[in-house]
Amino acid sequence: MKEILLCKYGEILLKGANKKYFEDVLLRELRHRAKNYGNFNISRAQSTIYIEPEDDSCDIDGMLESALCVFGIVSIGRSAMCEKNMDAIRALARSYIPAFLEGKKTFKVEARRSDKRFELDSMEISREIGYELLRACPHIKVDVHNPDVTVRVEIREIGAYIHAGAYKAAGGMPVGTNGRGLLLLSGGIDSPVAGYMMAKRGLSLEAVYFESFPYTSEQAREKVLTLARLVSRYAGPINVHVVSLTHIQEELVRACEEDYFTLLLRRYMMAIADRIAQSRHLGALITGESLGQVASQTMQALMVTDIMANRPVFRPCIGMDKEEIVQIAHKIKTFETSILPYEDCCTVFTPKHPRTRPELEKVVAQEQKLDFDALVEEALTTLQTFRIESEY
Ligand code: ATP
Ligand code: MG
Repeated sequence: MKEILLCKYGEILLKGANKKYFEDVLLRELRHRAKNYGNFNISRAQSTIYIEPEDDSCDIDGMLESALCVFGIVSIGRSAMCEKNMDAIRALARSYIPAFLEGKKTFKVEARRSDKRFELDSMEISREIGYELLRACPHIKVDVHNPDVTVRVEIREIGAYIHAGAYKAAGGMPVGTNGRGLLLLSGGIDSPVAGYMMAKRGLSLEAVYFESFPYTSEQAREKVLTLARLVSRYAGPINVHVVSLTHIQEELVRACEEDYFTLLLRRYMMAIADRIAQSRHLGALITGESLGQVASQTMQALMVTDIMANRPVFRPCIGMDKEEIVQIAHKIKTFETSILPYEDCCTVFTPKHPRTRPELEKVVAQEQKLDFDALVEEALTTLQTFRIESEY
């Protein structure tokens, strides 16, 4: 028996004339990933992408897992395929479907025919295959309204397919179809989730990590690179730029009022990130901030940092509770790494009484005690880039 994956896409179907462009991006992505799992033939027809193993050595489980991380695909049916005649379809239903009905009480069959010349119509196919399965599995009953299992039969141009349940896939839009963004990636829980969410909306990612060696460690950096690798399973390859803030932090401690440390540091981060984005042609910045989560994430504090950026700052976690963010972190498998206890540069010099409603003039007055532009320039000379290849 031959198994095949049928990938359906959602939102991009609405794109009308651009549909082919989106499909091409998806095909390229799937073909690229497929190289790790064997020799697959990947093609499209009738708003579906077919992933077909060419020989028995193909790892179809691995391919399925990987395809479930491709943004732009909404569901994947793992189907068995046969010739387009009722005898073959009946035989396939008998051999392939009973395993999916074990332990279940009710089912229905839904047939669809895109090949209208087929000998039976959809209703007739459903009925025939229903009878066949009732005979093969005496324990199960038909329930057309609320079945435990829906068996689908599809009669398409190149053959007939049958499956019992599709996997919910990653959804969203194909990575790269909405431009490129720079993720401010710390070692925390929120920023990897933010990167994942913007990749889901079709952004490809680069990242910047600010470290403060020797106050932050080599392990802290490794942790961030690991997080980038985990996000890359969804987002594709990521260039991670590492910039040292050590000198800036020491200068802040020397010259500025303690209550403003965090805010001032965040303004430097934004300004440096914006400069990197500018030179790398990245259209937006992305952070993991959530409104009110900490002192630097109040509305006033965000205003004070936002104005350092000359491009939109996307904060997909802004309206989410920690609980919800953690849930996504588990789903994308970044949580366990995020909670490893290495210090972040923001936690190295934390004020006892951070400003929650900073006034811009006062922040700027503190900032003017230092040569802001020179410190930004100097920090940029420490930039090192690590290429994270996607772990498919
Ligand atoms: P996270 O869990 O993402 O670290 P957080 O709750 O710890 O977030 P903050 O430390 O205030 O919050 O950081 C807010 C955002 O600023 C982060 O989500 C991230 O986008 C960015 N950021 C913070 N520290 C760094 C850093 N060292 N390097 C790069 N970006 C950072
Ligand atoms: Mg943090």
